[in-house]
Amino acid sequence: MKLYNSLTRKREDFVPNHPEIVKMYTCGPTVYHYAHIGNLRSYIMEDILDRYLRYSGYNLKRVMNITDVGHLTSDADEGEDKMLKGAQREHKSVMEIAKFYTDAFFSDCAKLGIRTPDVVEPATNCIDDYIRIISKLMDTGYAYFAGGNVYFDTSKLERYYVFNDFSAEDLDVGVREGVEEDTNKRNKNDFVLWFTKSKFEDQALKWDSPWGVGYPGWHIECSGISMKHLGEDLDIHCGGIDNAFPHHTNEIAQSESYLGHKWCNYWMHVLHLNTKGGKMSKSKGEFLTVSLLEQKGYDPRAYRLFCLQSHYRKILVFDWENLDNAQLAYSKLIARIAALKPGDGELDQAAFDALKKRFTDALDNDLNTSLAVTALYDVLKYQTNDATKLAAIADFDSVLSLDLIARADKKREELKKQTVTAGEFTIVSESGESDAEVEAKIRARQDAKKAKNYAEADRIRDELKAAGIEVTDIPHGAKWKRI
Ligand code: AMP
Ligand code: ZN
Repeated sequence: MKLYNSLTRKREDFVPNHPEIVKMYTCGPTVYHYAHIGNLRSYIMEDILDRYLRYSGYNLKRVMNITDVGHLTSDADEGEDKMLKGAQREHKSVMEIAKFYTDAFFSDCAKLGIRTPDVVEPATNCIDDYIRIISKLMDTGYAYFAGGNVYFDTSKLERYYVFNDFSAEDLDVGVREGVEEDTNKRNKNDFVLWFTKSKFEDQALKWDSPWGVGYPGWHIECSGISMKHLGEDLDIHCGGIDNAFPHHTNEIAQSESYLGHKWCNYWMHVLHLNTKGGKMSKSKGEFLTVSLLEQKGYDPRAYRLFCLQSHYRKILVFDWENLDNAQLAYSKLIARIAALKPGDGELDQAAFDALKKRFTDALDNDLNTSLAVTALYDVLKYQTNDATKLAAIADFDSVLSLDLIARADKKREELKKQTVTAGEFTIVSESGESDAEVEAKIRARQDAKKAKNYAEADRIRDELKAAGIEVTDIPHGAKWKRI
């Protein structure tokens, strides 16, 4: 499998450190608010990597942190504490906020078909691990104490900017107007390992440490949690592109200074989902969440399909029209799979292998998910029996996670019920989608016809036509399509 490695800026063959296990780490959410669908794009694409590694036969151990302390509004350790801000906004305690939004995050993930990593660790669980790492960094001269905080000294490194293929804009640390610069830092890029009460006196969560009562900086948590569960080396580390700098850069700085050797071999960064207006934001404009998509009638898996249709290393622009297209494509896909007959023939191994090769070729090529989706459509077109097609679809869906088989089974059951009651009036759409409003109008038209009120029946048909819906009568029912 070839994977683009942000560290070397090359597509490389993926070779794990230890043949018996692949160790993967993912930066988890900061649980001060709901995740927006941009955050979730990153988690969907990382989930594809997770699932594809397992599908390819690797024994994967994946760890994710939950940031419930230490992440300030500016990634450069300035501004307010995000968790504290969330707690103040909702008049709750930091721990209540953390619990609520952690649950909300995993509920969104479940709706999007994202697997929960093998280990999920809140940052507040591992304070001793951070203290151990920071103590050694102090002893070896990589860290210093100033103004009540412990900082990492980036001037002690041979090389600090490790991901320097990113544009200046990518490397912008979210500098905000009105955020005061920290004058304790010896060098511009130095970052906080441990805050004490000298900064943010009202911080809710504090722990004792050799440097005073305080709390960890944001970056140290990922090094500490990764080493706690995965040891001193890591195969793949992932996150959204904004994490590359300064977060991942700082993770590498402190981890390798602590360990005295290379830490992680492959870095995977997912490019952002933007709105037409630019950056996706939790505070400006419409706050796009999974719940909002559902309220507007979209299936979360249609959003997953929307993400899979483009490559993770390209910026993806969100607009409702594109999501409409993905929703329609998703419903049609389910309808086409539902039209396959499960008992039809025996598995044709040669056909299955040929189809599978298209799928694995796509994903082996730096996770080309849009070609993997094309490989899924190829199954439907292929000259083979339905049993083979269904087997291939189920196999691919263990990676794509679009819930295709279960949804198609459900659809098939619904269609069966409709056929059983064929004496009654059946409404079907050509695309396989269902639309309660359209169906209600078609039923009203049928009632009018039954009552011999043909003028009303024609009026309803014209009204549907004006709304872009064409209705055709079929035996015992009506068929409709969008025109
Ligand atoms: P946070 O909850 O802010 O710590 O971010 C969670 C994850 O979402 C991180 O991996 C970020 O890099 C990623 N992320 C943030 N904004 C976006 C976006 N607009 N598109 C894709 N990923 C994002
Ligand atoms: Zn991290």
